[in-house]
Amino acid sequence: MSIQKRLDGRLLINGVLIAAQNPSSAVHNPATGEVVGMTGSAHPQEIEAAVAAARAAFQSWSGLPGKARAKCLHRLGDLIEADADAMAQLMTLEQGKPVNEARGEILKLAETCHFYAEEASRIHGETVPNDSTDFDSIIVREPIGVVGAITPWNYPAELVGWKLCGALAAGCTIIIKPAEITPFTALAIGEKCIEAGIPAGVVNVVTGPGAVVGQALVEHPGVDKIAFTGSSKVGLHIQKSATTVKRMALELGGNCPMIVTRSADLDAAVKGAVRRSYRNCGQICIAINRIYVDRQVYDEFLQKLAAGAEALTVANGLEFPAADLGAMASAEPLNKTQEHLADAVSKGARLLAGGARPNGAEFKNGHFFRPTVLADCTHEMLIMTEETFGPIVGVAPFETLQEAVQLANDTPYGLASYVYAKGADEIRFLSRLLDYGNVAVNTVDAGIINAPYGGRKQSGVGYEHGREGMLEYMNFKHIRVRFDIPSEGV
Ligand code: NDP
Repeated sequence: MSIQKRLDGRLLINGVLIAAQNPSSAVHNPATGEVVGMTGSAHPQEIEAAVAAARAAFQSWSGLPGKARAKCLHRLGDLIEADADAMAQLMTLEQGKPVNEARGEILKLAETCHFYAEEASRIHGETVPNDSTDFDSIIVREPIGVVGAITPWNYPAELVGWKLCGALAAGCTIIIKPAEITPFTALAIGEKCIEAGIPAGVVNVVTGPGAVVGQALVEHPGVDKIAFTGSSKVGLHIQKSATTVKRMALELGGNCPMIVTRSADLDAAVKGAVRRSYRNCGQICIAINRIYVDRQVYDEFLQKLAAGAEALTVANGLEFPAADLGAMASAEPLNKTQEHLADAVSKGARLLAGGARPNGAEFKNGHFFRPTVLADCTHEMLIMTEETFGPIVGVAPFETLQEAVQLANDTPYGLASYVYAKGADEIRFLSRLLDYGNVAVNTVDAGIINAPYGGRKQSGVGYEHGREGMLEYMNFKHIRVRFDIPSEGV
């Protein structure tokens, strides 16, 4: 773990990894409870220095041709890919997911670097017709400026990467504030940015409590945009508390439904449900929280889902890289999972699988929980109405497709939804009426880097991924030009 030791209590400011001057808090391995390092809490002077560095670097970075920025991003992608094993170990150490899964996330980060490298060389504008021929309206795209990126702990690499790469491709500079419990992955990415030759000040990383360090970025007049991923509660607070007008992208919580119709391939639906309910212990904004199944296939689905959940392995993700579930990232989501379970059972839900921590001395000090299935759930229960962020899913039957849609849309959230169905009419009906930013049909991989990803309603505003994920970091400028008609005529 040499990389983590070097980044212990560090901040990345103006191209240099410095020791934070403020007291640090401990970072724990969620599988064992051991302290694995310390994180610094950026002092106001250090935050000022990071913003000043990003502002100073903006002019030259944004002035580079897109191709030059693309080269840096390609180099960054190559370096991250080459060091994927060590970076994955580091992520597991602080976050708890199995190493194989962490490695997959690091490789996706590398892919994001290459995707946005290519977008950087394709920033074009357009010419818009006017109502008379002696005018041209030219629309150009210009980078917004300095970005404050505030990220959560569940995907410590990808959620940094989408912001970092979109912003850098556009020509912006960035200050990253990772979650307090997972600072090392973000610092390791920052270190790779230095190695990739990205100029000093373009990428800065400040760590510390969100309410202090994150809030300072939100309120700082030198930060032009906040790109935030996290809970709806904090997202709303950020939106309300900015003290100067700035652009905001808020990728917030979800409460994602899955609908399984009677025509669905039931085995495929169960496989999908198992993957998207329990991957990363359900600590995914697009995790399936609740499943609605046609009454005709309800019992068969439940029996298969319970068997699928019971078959999953839970283990320390560093020692068993191929485990299905590692430790949850902290006590907080584990407590919420237990609270939602108790609430549902007290209101009549049937526990079909899991429902407890795994047995064994090796689980004693970690935040582990068995994948859990609850049947006969209703919207009186927290499990069906609130985001749990844990390895638990509630299931309920439906009689008609209209009822399924009504139940699925009965939420203030609108991030992702899932459908398993065979009939084209069913698929068309459901995908049109589901009020979500993403609808995944016969797959549970709702996102791909090439296409925009974002929520609606209380799940947020703005997009990441795709070309749209870079345009979020750009202003449009309209240049309207009047030409004189040459005297000899046209
Ligand atoms: P939080 O909202 O608690 O924290 C997210 C980030 O915001 C952290 O870096 C946190 O810092 C920081 N923060 C906290 N308070 C403030 C503040 N007042 N001002 C500025 N920054 C602040 O979310 P979690 O970390 O608990 O992450 C889980 C949530 O993220 C879930 O609701 C999940 O759905 C959502 N999420 C959404 C995704 C999407 O794409 N829509 C993707 C992944 C997760 P610190 O850690 O130091 O407190």
